[in-house]
Amino acid sequence: MASPLPPTPVGVRVRVPAKINLALKVGPRRADGYHPLATVYHAVALYDEVLALWAEPDEFEVAVIGEGAGVVPLDDTNLAVRAARLLARTHGPYDSLGASLSLRKAIPVAAGLAGGSADGAGALLACASLWDLDVSPEALRALAAELGSDVPFALLGGTAVGSGRGEEVVPALARGTYHWVLGFGHGGLSTPAVYRRFDELTPQPVNPEVPDELMNALRTGDPRALGAALVNDLQPAALDLRPQLRQVLEAGLEYGAVGALISGSGPTAAFLAASEPAAIDLAVALSADGLCREVRRASGPVTGARLVI
Ligand code: ATP
Repeated sequence: MASPLPPTPVGVRVRVPAKINLALKVGPRRADGYHPLATVYHAVALYDEVLALWAEPDEFEVAVIGEGAGVVPLDDTNLAVRAARLLARTHGPYDSLGASLSLRKAIPVAAGLAGGSADGAGALLACASLWDLDVSPEALRALAAELGSDVPFALLGGTAVGSGRGEEVVPALARGTYHWVLGFGHGGLSTPAVYRRFDELTPQPVNPEVPDELMNALRTGDPRALGAALVNDLQPAALDLRPQLRQVLEAGLEYGAVGALISGSGPTAAFLAASEPAAIDLAVALSADGLCREVRRASGPVTGARLVI
């Protein structure tokens, strides 16, 4: 008789997409330090993976490989660890739960693509499944909002309108697939630093609203209309802190992009192409001129955090 197989670690794997903001309208800083936002999130096919394995009770650890792994914190400030601990504390027999998390990052760190938020959302879903917790999607969304403004969208994915500080998300009526080219910057940009510069550059911000033009463009599915409607109130602040980004945006438009903007707080430049072949040409041209650290294509929208079977 064949000898029994060695025990395999029981693990759960989740993949979570990056986001870009098709519109990011920013209002005046609130008393609690946050800025009210009206944003349109769009999930693109660039994924981090979160693997969760059982660990000893009350033991939470994380290992990171891939894009930017060297600068991701490995302590309790890692968003994936915070997510696992929060879930255990609020929905589990806390004393008996632990998790060993492994992150495989493809989303660059501090790039305006919400990579940390993606990992937080991934850890919530992976641990809920690993521990077999009875937690509703609404409860998971509430925990996500507690973890960070972009985390609820990372669970949801697709194209969605975000309000509040970005944590209130509602799916948007959107048609078609869009072909994006992402230009990664050399080094990250700190989100708080970009907001501080926004405050200095914008003495009287108005209450934020998503432009009708953008919502109409999404309903038609026409990339040229969407490209013309892209807007980011944080872009002047990001360009002020990283002036060479202006050159990157201009280069992408010259190479045929139908729209270009800085994603979130930057420094990633997102270019919209008219078609998939146009995106391939654009990516080749941008890679060749060497202005970006790396150039990647990613289509959207894609679904949010999902278990990988
Ligand atoms: P934001 O959501 O603030 O706009 P971003 O997309 O620009 O962020 P992230 O990649 O989420 O940037 O990283 C922001 C910071 O979060 C990093 O500098 C890092 O110190 C911290 N961080 C915590 N956990 C993670 C994680 N799992 N992956 C990446 N960064 C993390």
